[in-house]
Amino acid sequence: SKPIVAIVGRPNVGKSTLFNVLAGEKISIVEDTPGVTRDRIYADVTWLKYDFTIIDTGGIEPESDDEILKHMRTQAQIAIDTADVILFVVDVKQGLVDDDHKVANMLRKARKPVILVVNKVDNFDKLEMDVFEFYNLGLGEPRPVSSASKLGLGDMLDVVVENF
Ligand code: GDP
Ligand code: MG
Repeated sequence: SKPIVAIVGRPNVGKSTLFNVLAGEKISIVEDTPGVTRDRIYADVTWLKYDFTIIDTGGIEPESDDEILKHMRTQAQIAIDTADVILFVVDVKQGLVDDDHKVANMLRKARKPVILVVNKVDNFDKLEMDVFEFYNLGLGEPRPVSSASKLGLGDMLDVVVENF
């Protein structure tokens, strides 16, 4: 069957925006919908000659700080258990935060390829030095994208399919 690519990361880094742009239509839940608690949303994607399934593991995310880390750990575990490739999304505008490190530690131990996606790099003309800060996560080369402006996605997808 098709390879599975799971998208994980802190709330508000842009996981659902990335998912939606890759899916080509608005499938995922980007904002809170009262009474809706779906924790995984799937879409089929084709890139070059590759067909695969992407999963947005974010669902409806908690807003209280102590719930966020627990939620992220659950997402990361779902990704580790089910995905062939994991997209770990971080936010260049917020920078590197402690919860990023905690999830990175989990993902590093998994025997799965992890691609470090630095989202919200809205201007590729001046590739912010801030992107390089994310090397500190120990997950290899940070891949800059802007999900909102659809920048860097082709290069990111090339790296995804290299891992199938
Ligand atoms: P999630 O909680 O990780 O699923 O994040 P969302 O996809 O819901 O996005 C959170 C916020 O970040 C929304 O206001 C998005 O419009 C915004 N956002 C997502 N991607 C980008 C981006 O590439 N650039 C900028 N500037 N904002 C973005
Ligand atoms: Mg989301």
